[in-house]
Amino acid sequence: MDVFAVPGLPEVRPGDDLAALVESRADLRDDDVLLVASTVVSKAEDRRADLDDFPAGPRAKEIAERLEAVSGEEKDPRFAQAVLEESTEIIMDAPFLLTATRFGHVGVNAGIDRSNVGDEGHDLLLLPERPSESADRIRRNLSADPAVIVTDTSGRPFRHGQRGVAIGWSGIPASRDWRGETDRDGHELEVTVEAVVDELAAAANLVTGEGDDGLPVAVVRDWEFGNHEGSDNLYRDVDGDFVRQALRGWEFA
Ligand code: GDP
Ligand code: MN
Ligand code: MN
Ligand code: MN
Repeated sequence: MDVFAVPGLPEVRPGDDLAALVESRADLRDDDVLLVASTVVSKAEDRRADLDDFPAGPRAKEIAERLEAVSGEEKDPRFAQAVLEESTEIIMDAPFLLTATRFGHVGVNAGIDRSNVGDEGHDLLLLPERPSESADRIRRNLSADPAVIVTDTSGRPFRHGQRGVAIGWSGIPASRDWRGETDRDGHELEVTVEAVVDELAAAANLVTGEGDDGLPVAVVRDWEFGNHEGSDNLYRDVDGDFVRQALRGWEFA
């Protein structure tokens, strides 16, 4: 397969038609996967915000004070308020804010970005409200019919370093199911469900970069999902998420 970034995209503005911006710079094919950084989806959907939009309530002040005590760095309670308002659950509040967003993604600071926010003195870029709907919309506005994945850069538990993950997708199942297939020794695979949208997002992140490259969109070409069952079940239900349950009861000393 090939992975390449779409060159020459401008600074994305509220209201911009991402599909048109991309299609005027790349000849997309129906069997491509188009990966779009959430940063530009948020800009197009005008999810820029200002710290002043989030006057801090008591909970946010408490969280910011605790974060300050733990990190020795100054923390803005308005940022904690923004994270609270973007989240349905605070899973950890120290030594960093780990929360679940409305659409199911669990991430530090609800994925609110303070890099590559864009112009005009805006402080924050919130994640798209419903990234799979964003992916649907981009796909509908394209004349080709590739799968579309909205990505974000995210850290991982247990490992240092960040990588791209999928936060929304359209025209492709989130996972391919290997259960019931056999390994080289004829043993039946019992648990392997491969989160292909995350793997594709990680590949895209390799070519889009994190800084000032100006490459928010990548294309994966000549990759095949193959003959597998698919599933969209990427975000664990809280009931079956034992790590999340354990973290709920855990206190940072
Ligand atoms: P995130 O992973 O979604 O948070 O996005 P990043 O902030 O890591 O940016 C990913 C890539 O998109 C980097 O190459 C940025 O330089 C680029 N980028 C971000 N915003 C824009 C934009 O408005 N226009 C262009 N052309 N590139 C952008
Ligand atoms: Mn960023
Ligand atoms: Mn981001
Ligand atoms: Mn990134």
